[in-house]
Amino acid sequence: MDERKYDLIIIGAGPSGIFMAYELIKLGSKKKILMIEQGKKVEERFCPIEKTGKCIKCKPLCHITNGFSGAGAFSDGKLSLYNEEDTEIHVGGNLHEYLGIEATKKLIDYTDQIYLDFGADKKIEGLEYKEEVKKIKDKAKKENITLYDVPIRHLGTEKAHELYAKLEKHLIDNGVEIQFNTVVADLIVTNNVVKGVKTKPSKYVEDDEYTQFEKIYADTVVIGVGRKGAKWLSDMCARHNIDSRAGIVDIGVRYELPDKFMADINKYMYEAKFIARPAPYYDKVRTFCQNPSGFVSSEVYDKNITLANGHSYKDRKSTNTNLALLCSHKFSYPFHEPIKYGRNVAENSNQLGNGNILVQRFGDILKGKRTWEKELQENSVVPTLKAAVAGDITYALGYRTMTNIIEFIKMLDKVVPGFAHPDNLLYSPEIKFYSNQVVIDNNFETSIKNLYSIGDGGGLTRGLMMASCSGVHLARIYHNT
Ligand SMILES: Cc1cc2nc3c(=O)[nH]c(=O)nc-3n(C[C@H](O)[C@H](O)[C@H](O)COP(=O)(O)OP(=O)(O)OC[C@H]3O[C@@H](n4cnc5c(N)ncnc54)[C@H](O)[C@@H]3O)c2cc1C
Repeated sequence: MDERKYDLIIIGAGPSGIFMAYELIKLGSKKKILMIEQGKKVEERFCPIEKTGKCIKCKPLCHITNGFSGAGAFSDGKLSLYNEEDTEIHVGGNLHEYLGIEATKKLIDYTDQIYLDFGADKKIEGLEYKEEVKKIKDKAKKENITLYDVPIRHLGTEKAHELYAKLEKHLIDNGVEIQFNTVVADLIVTNNVVKGVKTKPSKYVEDDEYTQFEKIYADTVVIGVGRKGAKWLSDMCARHNIDSRAGIVDIGVRYELPDKFMADINKYMYEAKFIARPAPYYDKVRTFCQNPSGFVSSEVYDKNITLANGHSYKDRKSTNTNLALLCSHKFSYPFHEPIKYGRNVAENSNQLGNGNILVQRFGDILKGKRTWEKELQENSVVPTLKAAVAGDITYALGYRTMTNIIEFIKMLDKVVPGFAHPDNLLYSPEIKFYSNQVVIDNNFETSIKNLYSIGDGGGLTRGLMMASCSGVHLARIYHNT
């Protein structure tokens, strides 16, 4: 086979990689670009859970997190924007630490326009009811809870799919080569300079004995592997001495409660970002990824690790709101392996649910009892994730995590009456893995020459908009050098 050589290889076709390729086309770049994606084309991605009622652990890879548009395809696409008056960027990651606040805002505007050009809804949620939001903010403040109200553009799960399909076509029509169903197994690094990648077909993703790798060479390699690739990226850092710092892992639950309790929040903000530090640990606990009238979902990582998540459609509605309640865990001497810790928690939880997501009522947790299937069937809050198994999540989540979550729910109940209703549901585990934070310079270059890192995987971003922005920004840097 002839040796393949490109100017640029982008590993992962998630929003970060896609927007890098998009921007390069827009800038008129003539570079020979290859994107390598372990999942499928966006039009071939579907989650069978809707038909089967339970997660069948798709092989070789879960459709929810892999394939063109990465975790974005089945996200309902809440694009986090910003308020004009904000002097900080509160959500989505650390991009502003590299670019500055004003440049980040400009970049969000620019990237948002691309989403609009490809069919995003023009409506922005969270701008209309400033007075009402202020009242909720003040009420929260009295309970030592901070509320960040960030305007949202909501694509909706089905619309996100359509939008990314158009982007996929646009990239291919404009000469970007996208190699699907292919795993980047390793990087080729010589004398601290990246030279290319080693790949294998995705059907061998779990085969650790595989040796028939194809070597593909490039002058520049960009890592955009998302949270799905966090473990792989950590392994790469260790193998090739890529500078990284011990990162964090966010562990918690997906919380589901009736829309009626969340009516004001949903109406005024669509998504509210509440943050508090409950006693006795004072760890940061936050709400994340709120889905009014939405559905709880599951996603499968390697070794069948199954995590809870949630989304909402533009047209199809449930009568429940779901949101993540997450605690950030940062470890200190002698333990520095947040990903391993998170995976252990997930494995415990999955084992207790016979490979499925566990669900328990809040009231049962307070009473110190498990939830039984029959109780779940008669519960006033009907679970939207049918595949979830009733049980006891307190066996799986650590005491500290559990205490943080319980105290946070009680605190928030004073701001959002009904938030601590005993019938509300906790799904376990919801975990956000980030690789050990990859050290990058202001150009997003790692300590390996010509190797760059963007998006969620290396810990730079934590959401669709920022991941997309990081791709646009790197494209500009790359084009101008
Ligand atoms: C159900 C769900 C709902 C969400 N809702 C929202 C939301 O409403 N708003 C929001 O801001 N964010 C949301 N998110 C998060 C959002 O999707 C991510 O922040 C975003 O997709 C990150 O983009 P990325 O490019 O960094 O990585 P990803 O989107 O994760 O893409 C990475 C890609 O790299 C591929 N890959 C990984 N490793 C390799 C390898 N070794 N070889 C080849 N390919 C590889 C993966 O298959 C994947 O396609 C949601 C996520 C999920 C799962």
